[in-house]
Amino acid sequence: MRHDHLITSKQLSRGDIETVLDYAAELDADPSTVADRHAGTLLGLLFFEPSTRTKMSFETAMKRLGGDVVDMGSIESSSVKKGETLADTVRVIEGYTDALVLRHPKQGAATMASEFVDVPLVNAGDGAGHHPTQTMLDLYTIRENAGLDDLTIGIMGDLKYGRTVHSLAYALTNFDTRQHFISPESLQLPREVVYDLHQRQDGTGIREHDSLEEVLPSLDVLYVTRIQRERFPDENEYQKVAGEYQIDADTLEAASDELTVMHPLPRVDEIAPEIDETDYAAYFQQAHNGVPVRMALLDLLLSDDKRIGGDDDE
Ligand code: ASP
Repeated sequence: MRHDHLITSKQLSRGDIETVLDYAAELDADPSTVADRHAGTLLGLLFFEPSTRTKMSFETAMKRLGGDVVDMGSIESSSVKKGETLADTVRVIEGYTDALVLRHPKQGAATMASEFVDVPLVNAGDGAGHHPTQTMLDLYTIRENAGLDDLTIGIMGDLKYGRTVHSLAYALTNFDTRQHFISPESLQLPREVVYDLHQRQDGTGIREHDSLEEVLPSLDVLYVTRIQRERFPDENEYQKVAGEYQIDADTLEAASDELTVMHPLPRVDEIAPEIDETDYAAYFQQAHNGVPVRMALLDLLLSDDKRIGGDDDE
């Protein structure tokens, strides 16, 4: 069976991931082969939360495939302001477009919305839930820099609310990886995610820590995340953890010379700018990879000869 919608990385098998990454690499090398492939195709952008990279790279990707986008714009200027439900909004916009990209502050919003539409719907972030297309570009960047098998990765910061972390952690269980999760106790991975990760991968591949120090020398990749201030029910709780887990050149003295430092961006103060010009930094490359990866995903979702296999019922 093939995927009609892309909601979580749990849907994706190793074969699916490799198909997308291999195709993205082809498009990265020569995007001209698909310049007119989706001429006349319209992608609907529904962003109920701020976005820079995700939205602009989807738009760039669709245009590089020969298509165009229709953007709902800010919620302030849309009918959402008048109280329209998400189910109604997506049903209306699917009538104008060939596929939808949805970002929403509520976890589960993409799953719900996908039940109301027939065109492919891509989850571009649902609250603290998932962000599967970010994961694909993260995997692409990891593969370019460190390889995806026999990988030791540290994932650090806000593991509770960070949707990019959840999606990446699930996807990595398809590969031979050791995942170290580093966070303050209050921002640990949700217990159900830990449970799922153990079910999907031999438990020895998953470890939780409160300090980077003990694992840093063993890491191939360090994936740093922002504390998701907007998701804290209580600002005081945010203030207690703000500014923890920052890295700078001194921190990385204990790291391997081969370490790759990643971040889904935007960063606040987690990575000192002095790291930007070092060989460790891969976060801008990671953001650039969003275009070929989203081109590959859109083409696969929009084409009749879809090449992403697997169950689509998760
Ligand atoms: N841009 C990512 C997201 O939308 C990461 C972040 O906002 O911290 O989840």
